[in-house]
Amino acid sequence: MNVAPAERYMKLLEDRIKKDGRLINSDILKVDSFLNHQIDVGLMDAMGEEFARCFSGLGVNKIVTIESSGIPLACAAARAMGGLPVVFAKKAVPNTMTEEFYSATVRSFTKNKVYEAIVSKRFLSEDDVCLIIDDFLASGEAAEGLVKIIEQAGARCAGVGAAIEKEFQGGSAKLRERGLKVVSLAVITSLADDRIQFKSTYEC
Ligand code: 5GP
Repeated sequence: MNVAPAERYMKLLEDRIKKDGRLINSDILKVDSFLNHQIDVGLMDAMGEEFARCFSGLGVNKIVTIESSGIPLACAAARAMGGLPVVFAKKAVPNTMTEEFYSATVRSFTKNKVYEAIVSKRFLSEDDVCLIIDDFLASGEAAEGLVKIIEQAGARCAGVGAAIEKEFQGGSAKLRERGLKVVSLAVITSLADDRIQFKSTYEC
């Protein structure tokens, strides 16, 4: 049977989650051996290529993410899209940030606290068409914060790409209601009863 490359690829990530993912509880999945602490660069590059395929033809000229775990995946996507710049929102105002910045309040899903995501006004403008990339899409708070920052700059958001979506936490539905294209390379429908359940279909 012929399997489309994208579906073969989706299976690769799913198999890796099954092999190396650890359940913290029925809400949180730990994937720090390949995605957000130790990093499998080859896997990142493959995911970047898939985002490049899914978001081609939309005029994207900048990748936007949030520190820190979105950065390697954002860089992989940026490379696959021809070397686009990556802008990552910071979660605190550094002493070196003397210029004006855009900001949005975000509730952290994993740390259960609220922070300000900030991006210098120098790095986003009304000419930009931005693609948001992150490691996880859960409740959608981080992505919505980035959309607000992009809108403050008068730029446009072409969509949101995530490696792993936990569909049952509602983020992708909220973003699609805003009219945004959302692509998640592995979609988890449940983490209940110590089992990781995946959606069997893949949309790009
Ligand atoms: P959201 O803002 O969509 O609720 O959550 C997305 C952010 O929270 C991501 O930037 C990600 O770093 C973190 N996150 C959400 N769920 C998980 C999870 O199950 N595991 C890990 N490691 N990070 C998560």
